[in-house]
Order: sequence, then structure tokens, then C-alpha cells
Amino acid sequence: MTENSAFGPLVHDGSMLIDGEWVPSADGRTLPVIDPGTEEQVGAVALGSPADVDRAVAAARAAHVQERWMGMSAQQRSATMWRLSDLIAENVDELARLESLDVGMPEPTAQAMIAEAVNMYRYFAGWADKVYGVSAEIGPAQMRFQGFTRKEPVGVAALITSWNAPMIGNAMKLAPALAAGCTTVLKPSEEAPLSTLALGGLALAAGIPAGVVNVVPGSGPVVGAALTAHADVDKVSFTGSTAVGKQIVQAAAGNLKKLSLELGGKSPMIVLPDADIEAAVPALAVGMFWNSGQICTAGTRLLVHEDIAAEVADGVAAASRAMKVGYRTDPGVELGPLVSRRQLERVEGYVAAGREQGATVLTGGRRLGEKGYYYEPTVLTDVDPSMTVVREEIFGPVLGVVSYADVDEAVALANDSSYGLASSVWTRDINNALTVARKLKAGRVNINIHRAGGVQLPIGGYKQSGWGRECGPEGIAEFLETKSVVTRMWA
Ligand code: NDP
Repeated sequence: MTENSAFGPLVHDGSMLIDGEWVPSADGRTLPVIDPGTEEQVGAVALGSPADVDRAVAAARAAHVQERWMGMSAQQRSATMWRLSDLIAENVDELARLESLDVGMPEPTAQAMIAEAVNMYRYFAGWADKVYGVSAEIGPAQMRFQGFTRKEPVGVAALITSWNAPMIGNAMKLAPALAAGCTTVLKPSEEAPLSTLALGGLALAAGIPAGVVNVVPGSGPVVGAALTAHADVDKVSFTGSTAVGKQIVQAAAGNLKKLSLELGGKSPMIVLPDADIEAAVPALAVGMFWNSGQICTAGTRLLVHEDIAAEVADGVAAASRAMKVGYRTDPGVELGPLVSRRQLERVEGYVAAGREQGATVLTGGRRLGEKGYYYEPTVLTDVDPSMTVVREEIFGPVLGVVSYADVDEAVALANDSSYGLASSVWTRDINNALTVARKLKAGRVNINIHRAGGVQLPIGGYKQSGWGRECGPEGIAEFLETKSVVTRMWA
């Protein structure tokens, strides 16, 4: 690993990873890395260009054709993936430091996310030697056939992620892609490239052959667009906004790439009148404000029965005021800044629109300090379901509270969205919970907690929250092709 790097031992300054080598971008350009907690530039990484995309895709194609990864036995690949998980676990402090420097989240939050990423590599390491098809005997007695299916890697996969939780976002893609036997090009967000570059180095150190994991940082409209349009990329697995997801659908049409799209959300938290309010209130606040609301599954719409709406809204507002917002390494900090000035201005714009449209700011609603992109956790009441703050994804710490009169109205409000990613139901009655769960149009329903899941269970979106699923058996299926092989049986 590089000594004297501005970013520590895991990141090679000004370089990207192509075919097992740390190389500068073809045109020598670099991308500044900004600490969102201070607005200071803390260094620079290589800024990829279309020529770098061509090099990385060629490397991934060569690794695929030469079977550098698939040529290893399934058990070897599994053990190598496990070694990668061990290296991530051994470097958790350094990776968390990089992740938190890039994104702004407190280091303990980053550590928890990286622990989850370790689980993902281990879970999918277990899948690597369990990829097989079915067999079938076919045909009439005069001419019988024996057939079976083979599960094969889809080929070269471009893995494009958002900035909000890069180590988890990468793990949800890279772990199943490797278990399936694919070769990959990772494109982290330009807002947060550091941990992805570090991950590339750890993959090499774990023994994953050159060319199987390539990392090209760069901007979405340049590097991302070049990857999604590239004729030699077989699959794109994308996490990001619905708007960019739609552009990727267009870009991928040229060679009809396979697509997985993990897109935006506007997830409801439905509090039924019999909920345990005391237990629910702090958990609702976490469901909304964790990672400063920069989570695709954040519970941004709080739907509360009218009898308890004021009590729950006041409780969540008090809990959010008690959350300590500050610099990533300050003791006791629970929430960091937003990732960028653009994101801060976006949140300010949405809160202003909410005010103009008649919402009341129960708590928050202001930038904190003058340096760093800090914003108060914000609760809006007097919110009408037609308001922009309820319809559009803000991706920041802004909660809209809407009251309802009966459970059918609650379900209708919850489903009245172009998104369908996550949701939660809060009640003491499991029958009520399961009835509502059945009616919700969302890829995940949690009961008496907002964000619970695990690598064992798939996550993904209904409606415009995406195509396909990550995690669980569905997660690896996204990176596999199925081939039928049939042989005639001679009597
Ligand atoms: P964006 O859609 O802006 O970007 C996502 C990624 O796509 C980034 O790497 C970005 O690069 C890249 N990109 C941008 N434009 C293009 C393009 N034309 N072609 C190809 N790639 C492109 O989303 P954000 O990064 O701002 O992330 C926030 C969004 O991600 C929210 O909508 C959130 O809900 C969603 N998300 C969804 C998750 C899920 O699992 N469903 C999980 C986490 C987030 P760059 O940033 O360098 O421009």
C-alpha cells in the first residue's frame, strides 16, 4: 500500500485501479475531495474520462474471457471473498475514517455500516459454491432428452453507486457479482470515492485476480454515462436517483444491457392508534434522521392517526432536537453534515417550498453554523399530501407529518406515491400490522421498527423505486444468466 498518501495507507493518491495497476487518468485530471464538515479540500483523486472507462472495461472483459476468476474453483473463490471480508474487518477503523471524511457521517455510523458490508461479503462468499441449476428429463418415449440448466456469470458488470453509504452500496453489488463469477468496473460517486478506491486495493490484496475489480472514479455524466452506454458492458447495477435511473434505461438500450436499478424512495411510517407511543417515538426519529436523512429507505412521511398525531409529532420533534449534530469525530455526535453544498441548498429549497405551501415548521428548518453543510433535523406539520415535501424525495433531514382518520385512508396515503421502496407499521396488534403489510406497495415492510433487514432478505423497489432486488438469493440472480443444455438420449 502507498506510503505518504493524503488519505492514509489504503488510498493511492491521484490513481485509479485498472487491471490490477494503480494508474493516473488518461488525461491526468484529478477530482478534489472536500470534507463536508469543514468545506476544506483534503486531497484529490484521479478523475476518470471515457478513455479510462474503455481501459477498465477492456481489462474486465479480458479477465472474463481468460476466466481469471471463474477459472478458480468455486471453493477458492468463496475463500478469496471471505479473505476480502476479513481484510475489510481488519481495516474497519481506517475505512470508517475515509467514509466519514468523504460523506460527513460520524465515524461510529461508518463503522456500523462497514460491519454490515463485512456481513454481505461473507453471506455471498457462502453462495459462490452454491450456484447451480436444475435437471429435467424431457420428451416422449420414442425420443427422450436429458436436460439441465447452467447458471453462468452475466459477464462484465458496471457497478454505479451513490455517495450516501458507499461501502454498503458497493457490498450489495460487488459481493453478489463476485459470487456469480462476474468481472466488474466500480464507479463511485464523485462526492465520495475514497472507500471504493480502498476497497479495490483490498480486493487485490485478498487475491482477487487483476482485472476482476476495477475502480474508475469520475463524474456521473462522463464516467457513469460512458459505462452505461458501453457496448462491451453486459450488466449495469445502479444505485441512485430515479431521474438518473431513467437516463440509464435509455443509455443501456444500445446493446440491451441487463439492468438492476435501486432508486429513490419516499417511505411512509404508519402509526396506528394502538401503537406503543413511548417506544415508537425515539425509533421513528431514528427511522427518519439516521445519516441525516440521506438514506433511500428513510421514513420521510409520518402518517399518524388523528387522535394521536399531535402527541407523536411533538415527541418526534423533541427526540430530533435531542440528536447531537456535529463534526464526524466529535464525541457523542449522532448526525453529521449533508454531503455537499448542492445537497444543503436542495434541502433548504424544499423546506422553503413547504413553508410557502402552508406547512408549519414544528422544529428545525435552518442551517447550523456557517462552515460545513450542517442542517437541523426538521419536522413539518400541517402538511397536505399534495405538497412537494410529501411527493418528492428530499434526501435530507426533513420529515412531513400527515394525519389520517382510518386505516384505509392510511394505506391509501402510503400508496399515493410514485415510489415504493420501504415502509413501516407501528401497532400493538400483529393482525393489524400484517393486514396493512399485505396492502402496502413497497419492497419492504417493517413492523414496530423502520429500518430492519439483513443481507439474507431482498431489498428493492416497487413502482419508480427500481427494477430488481439486492441481497438474498435474488441478489445473486441479478448477476447470472441461465443456459439450458439438452442432449438426446439414445435408446
Ligand atoms: P444520483 O442519481 O445523482 O447518482 C448516483 C450515481 O450515478 C453516482 O455515482 C453518479 O455519479 C452517477 N450518475 C449521475 N449521472 C449519471 C449518468 N447520466 N449516467 C450514469 N451514472 C450517472 O444519486 P445520488 O448519488 O445523489 O444519490 C441519491 C439518490 O440515490 C437518492 O435518490 C436515493 O434515494 C438513491 N439511493 C437509492 C438506494 C436504494 O437502494 N434504492 C440506496 C441509496 C441511495 P456522480 O455522483 O459522480 O455524478
